[in-house]
Amino acid sequence: MGYEPAQLCDCGKKVPRWLSWSPDNPERRYYARVDAMVPTTGGCGFFKWHDAPTTPFLCQLLNDLRNAA
Ligand SMILES: [Zn+2]
Repeated sequence: MGYEPAQLCDCGKKVPRWLSWSPDNPERRYYARVDAMVPTTGGCGFFKWHDAPTTPFLCQLLNDLRNAA
């Protein structure tokens, strides 16, 4: 939660920032409510990418680096 400026969700709460490591979006930051995947807890399901979409070239490069580690 230690980032600025704060990203607010639809209910006006500060949203945690996460780092994606999925093959399609390696090392791409995004904002999501902790309870976004659990609608029953009353989360608003807020989700937003921080970084622009990863280009296919960069995506391949990052995945190669990750697999080589
Ligand atoms: Zn919300």
